[in-house]
Amino acid sequence: MKVTVDEDKCCGAGSCVLAAPDVFDQRDEDGVVVLLDAEPPAELHLAVQEAADVCPAAAITLSGK
Ligand code: SF4
Repeated sequence: MKVTVDEDKCCGAGSCVLAAPDVFDQRDEDGVVVLLDAEPPAELHLAVQEAADVCPAAAITLSGK
């Protein structure tokens, strides 16, 4: 699985950080998403999928398996 984030779309809601804190963080200044792990291990895929699903800005894109 490959994770990409679109910082321009991100509205800093932080839902992704709650869902998958090992993969997403937020910038201190403005809350914009920071991608910690662009290729997370299999055990995190469910959490990452959930993070993408709950992102209100659809700023998280997943590809591959
Ligand atoms: S859930 Fe979406 S909008 Fe909110 S911080 Fe994460 S990437 Fe940004």
